[in-house]
Amino acid sequence: MRIPLVAGNWKLNNTSTQAYKLVVEMIPVLRTIRDVEILVCPPFTALMAVSRLTRDTNIRLGAQNMYWEASGAFTGEISPIMIAEFCQYVILGHSERRAYFGETDNAVNRKVHAALAAGLRPVVCVGETLEENETGRASGVVSRQVREALLGVDLLDIDKLVIAYEPVWAIGTGKAAAPDGVNTLLADIVRGTLRGMFTEAGAQAVRILYGGSVNPENAASFFRQPEIDGALVGGASLKAASFVALVEAAQR
Ligand code: PEP
Repeated sequence: MRIPLVAGNWKLNNTSTQAYKLVVEMIPVLRTIRDVEILVCPPFTALMAVSRLTRDTNIRLGAQNMYWEASGAFTGEISPIMIAEFCQYVILGHSERRAYFGETDNAVNRKVHAALAAGLRPVVCVGETLEENETGRASGVVSRQVREALLGVDLLDIDKLVIAYEPVWAIGTGKAAAPDGVNTLLADIVRGTLRGMFTEAGAQAVRILYGGSVNPENAASFFRQPEIDGALVGGASLKAASFVALVEAAQR
């Protein structure tokens, strides 16, 4: 049984004061939730403030990125052990990092290894662009991204991994992918690739999320799909009411 995970990716939004207020608003309802894992991923500068609030709750904390080195002359970077002071999870390979910051499959793979070594659970993002989708290359791209991100990962670590399938054309556009089509792609391509790398039991242990314009209106149609183990949510995670509604939809 994979426990559903609903994760909010706040991106470049919220100062630590704003982040604190947002989590204070969410806590009364979120603390009543059972059987859903709840994750918020604020910007680095808000991690400490939010961690004070979430420490004794059922809300998990994640970062949105990290570097793979533990320390040294890497100006502006944040290391796995720095993140592990506050967080249980880290988002890696988000399409915005791939598109705007030149993050490659190899860089994502190095980060996955470093995160696991620091005791963090990586949420590895994969997904095809509109052009790749329209030219029939979605399956090939997603399969390659999964394979290359997870190269060399030990089977013993497999249950710590989360994959987020986020078609780039669905992120922040209001045009979510069709839930049944996502389910088929997750079964055939994402879990299929995992099966080839980590055995059937390994593949079944990995939670796979959908991300891309998930909102309180469409969430249930995704959560009903057998291969979709939750959601990675951008825009709708920035308001307490909508994030709470998504978590409640996953609980049902
Ligand atoms: C995301 O950026 O991970 C995302 C899914 O964004 P949105 O929910 O806004 O489409």
